Amino acid sequence: MNIVLMGPPGAGKGTQAEFIKKEYPIPHISTGDMFRDAVNRETELGKEAKKYMDTGKLVPDEITIGIVEERLAEDDCKTGFLLDGFPRTTVQAEALDKVLSSSGRKIDVAINIAVPNEILIKRLSGRVSCKECKVVYNLQSNPPATEGICDKCGGELIQRSDDLGETVAERLKVYQEQTNPLLAYYSRQNVLQEIDGNRDSKLVFADIKNRLESLK
Ligand code: AMP
Repeated sequence: MNIVLMGPPGAGKGTQAEFIKKEYPIPHISTGDMFRDAVNRETELGKEAKKYMDTGKLVPDEITIGIVEERLAEDDCKTGFLLDGFPRTTVQAEALDKVLSSSGRKIDVAINIAVPNEILIKRLSGRVSCKECKVVYNLQSNPPATEGICDKCGGELIQRSDDLGETVAERLKVYQEQTNPLLAYYSRQNVLQEIDGNRDSKLVFADIKNRLESLK
C-alpha cells in the first residue's frame, strides 16, 4: 500500500509511523528525518536544509521533491511505502502524483492526524527524543523512567532545536498556510482518511489500522 501520513507538527506522525511499520512491512520515508540526518552529517544538503529548518520554514520544493523522487525509485518502495511529512505543499503533492503515475503507481490513502493547536504547542514543548534510536517521549504525558535517558536503548534524550519558542509558532503557521490545503487535494482524489489524534497513541493507531484494513 502507498500511504501518505499527514498532520501538523506534534500530531504524532512519527509515533504512528512506528506502529504502522511494525504492522505493515513497508519502508518509512520521513523527509524530516532525512534532513536531520543530512544536517548531522554536515553534507551540502544538510547545510542548505538547516537554514530553513532552524527558522521553522519549509525546505524549498525542488530540493525536497528531488530527495523523495530518488528514494521512491529504490527497489524496496516497489510494493509500498509510508511517506511521513511529505508532501507538505501542493507543488510537492502534484510532483509526487506525477512521479508515481510515470511508474504506474498512485497514493492509495492519505491519513490526516488532526490535533487542536493548543494541544500541539503543549506537546512540542515537552517533546524529547533519543539521539540513538529516535524514540519519542513527552516530559508531561509519557516521560522516560530516568530523566534524560532512553528507556529502550539507554541513549541520550534531546530536544529538537525546532521545538523551541518562536520556531514552533512559525511551523504551525506554515502548516496552516501551505500544508492544510492538501486535505482538500486528497479529499478530491477520494483517498483522505481523517483521524482524531487527540487521544492515546494506541487508540489512534487502532483507528488507523481499521481504516487501512478496510481498504485492503
Ligand atoms: P518534521 O520532522 O517532519 O517536522 O520536519 C522538520 C523540518 O524539516 C520542517 O520544519 C521543514 O523545515 C523540513 N521538512 C520536512 N519535510 C519537508 C517537506 N516535505 N517540505 C519542506 N520541508 C520539509
